Amino acid sequence: MSIPRELIQRLVPDGTPPGQYRFNHEDCPAGTDTKRRLYIRVPEDNPAQRIAYCHNCQESGGARGKGLIGGRRAPVLASKARSLIDPPQTVAYDDMPVTAVALLMSAGITEEMCSKYGLFYDERSQRLVYTYRDRDGTILSQQLRALHPLIQPKYYSIDRYGAEFSSGVLGEGPLLVITEDLLSAIRVAEAGGRALPLRGVYAHAEQLCYEVTKDEVATILVWLDNDNDHVIARADQIVETIGMFAVKPVYTYLTEEEPKHIEHNELQEILNEYQQRLCSTG
Ligand SMILES: [Zn+2]
Repeated sequence: MSIPRELIQRLVPDGTPPGQYRFNHEDCPAGTDTKRRLYIRVPEDNPAQRIAYCHNCQESGGARGKGLIGGRRAPVLASKARSLIDPPQTVAYDDMPVTAVALLMSAGITEEMCSKYGLFYDERSQRLVYTYRDRDGTILSQQLRALHPLIQPKYYSIDRYGAEFSSGVLGEGPLLVITEDLLSAIRVAEAGGRALPLRGVYAHAEQLCYEVTKDEVATILVWLDNDNDHVIARADQIVETIGMFAVKPVYTYLTEEEPKHIEHNELQEILNEYQQRLCSTG
């Protein structure tokens, strides 16, 4: 179930300036709402969009032109300039340049993980390819990383559905860890956690809404990389956006070390610590 698009568009018509608006949720399935518990947000960066969440019935929804969000993917025309590359079934370190292997190894990524998660070297672009998928294995996007510091851009992306649905969650569990890239997400999943990779420090509201409102997610840890003002501001923004959609504890873990640079056992300990907080707070 999601909040009907027609209702969202009637309450917040086209041309409404960016901001957050509150309404009583008419016909709220959780009972009459008199406390204006339906929040509808018009994002600053995309004022054609509407993201709705009701704190009474905990349903979400959204409207975006003719698309529907909130449990359903809205296909957006992706750039046709570059098409997705099929990941090979198995990936061998021996087939990659030593710079690629060094980068993967420093992030604790093994050959086996490369095959499992679709990380490979693309001869044509001479870049390392990170494959982002959804739960059923559909490739949502690929990020191509340069292997030499002088090659710009460092990353470029090929999206199937648009940047707002460019990545899916890896791993299981009640603790959702939001990471910057696929390598960190893989390491979290391998350490027994659930991870949403962002492809940077910017999270799309639709993407967050889709993942944080899931029943299986009990708490969220925002774990971005280094300790500078820009990243801190981004993390705060992510926490604020999550708060709009879900009444769940959200923590931030700001450190110089991303999950991919933390040793496996230590990473497991950190995840366990947050899981335990979750149990003790009930
Ligand atoms: Zn409601």
